[in-house]
This record gives sequence, structure tokens and C-alpha cells, in this order.
Amino acid sequence: MTPAIGFDELHDELRGCRRCLEEGYWIAPGPVFSRGAGAGLMLIGQAPGPTEAIVKRPFNAGSGKRLFKWLAEAGWDEAEFRATAYMTAITKCYPGRSDSGKGDRVATPFEQALCRPWLEQELRLVNPRLLILVGGLAIKLLYPATMRLDEIIGTAAYFPPEVADPLNFDLSQAKIVASGEWRVAGEEAKPVTRHSPLATRHGRFVVPLPHPSGASLWPNKPENQVLISRAMALLREIREIER
Ligand code: SF4
Repeated sequence: MTPAIGFDELHDELRGCRRCLEEGYWIAPGPVFSRGAGAGLMLIGQAPGPTEAIVKRPFNAGSGKRLFKWLAEAGWDEAEFRATAYMTAITKCYPGRSDSGKGDRVATPFEQALCRPWLEQELRLVNPRLLILVGGLAIKLLYPATMRLDEIIGTAAYFPPEVADPLNFDLSQAKIVASGEWRVAGEEAKPVTRHSPLATRHGRFVVPLPHPSGASLWPNKPENQVLISRAMALLREIREIER
């Protein structure tokens, strides 16, 4: 693959991908992703579930209901979000049920690595101004595995234009932003508004969200629901900045 190809060519190649099967992993072949018409908004999940694999629509079932309930707090309705966003995943084919029978199998690091070149091609083409990472595997693109969700959810990472390359996942080059203020070490906290000089420099925001599947109990805890609401307030502010 070359970085210069367009969406249509990339998607034609991607739909034919069987790398994981060829390496001996069980997957339901047929990657799941969707491309909205808008520019600059991208969501990366973990992997599709069984119904997503059939209808080829990301976040089609229960996880999607919860995700879009959250995003409604940020001012998006589902149809608008789907029409605008590029939605994809760390691994794009359904990985099957877990051996324990509880939930779906988590794709191995090797499978994630097999799928990574597709993700990098997508990132280059979309070049997101706002990237939403949903679930642990996606969050680990940027955040160390040692960071807890309650340290991350409710904040965003802002990459200034000079380091806003879509493949830059070096957290040390980002400023950590919380709803309503910049929280940058050594700098005075400033309100985030559309008139903020930071907001007009066309960098890249990355906002992490927990996985919305019912298999995760984390979002059910009241203290974590507060963090999710903070994340939605932040997304609403970023949308305002980006208008
Ligand atoms: S998960 Fe990714 S790398 Fe594996 S077969 Fe599907 S598209 Fe290819």
C-alpha cells in the first residue's frame, strides 16, 4: 500500500483483507467501518461485535445505543454523527466470542499489529481535527496502559499544529485539557472558547471514552458517570471551537 491512495482504493483493498485468517486467527472476515461526509471527525473503537459484522455498521447494537446516548449530551444526534464521522476500529473484523463465553474475544496484540497499517492509512486520509478513542484498546494508542480510566476520562489531549500529524501518538507532545479550562503544567488555567488563540491554531484534539458495552461495569458507577459527563461537556466545547 502507498500513503497516496484515496478512500475508495483503500476501502476496496481493506474489504478483501484476510490477514488474520491467513495467520490462523478466527475472525469473521469482512471489516466494519463507515465513512461520513464530514471532514476531520474520526472515532476509533476496539472491534466490531456480531451484529455489526452482519450489517457492516459500526456501533450498530447495544454498545451503539449507549455511545449515542452519551454523544447526545455533547450535542450530536446519531444520524448527524454517522453522517459526519469516519468510524473504524483497532481490528476491523469480528473476533468471535471469548473462550470464557463472556463477551467477545479481545484481538491479540499480533492481530492488532496486522490491522495497524489499515488504521494508519485511514488516519492519514481523514487527518482528524477531533479523534475519539472508544474503549481500552483504542485508548492505548495514546495513553500508557498504566493510566487508569478515571485519570483519563473527562480530559482531552490537544496536539498543537506543529505536532498534529495524525500518526503522532506521543502523549508528551500534547497538552492535557479538561472541560472549561486548559490544565497545562506551569501555565495559568484559561477558559476554552472559540476565541481562544489555542483554538484557532488548527491542532488536533483526542478525546478518550470508556467502552460502552454492557460487558463493562465501569460506566455504571455514579462517580464514573460524572467523568463521562465531563467528557461530553468537553466534546461540546471542542465542537463549538471547531464550528
Ligand atoms: S482484523 Fe484487520 S488485519 Fe485482520 S483480517 Fe480484518 S481487516 Fe484484515
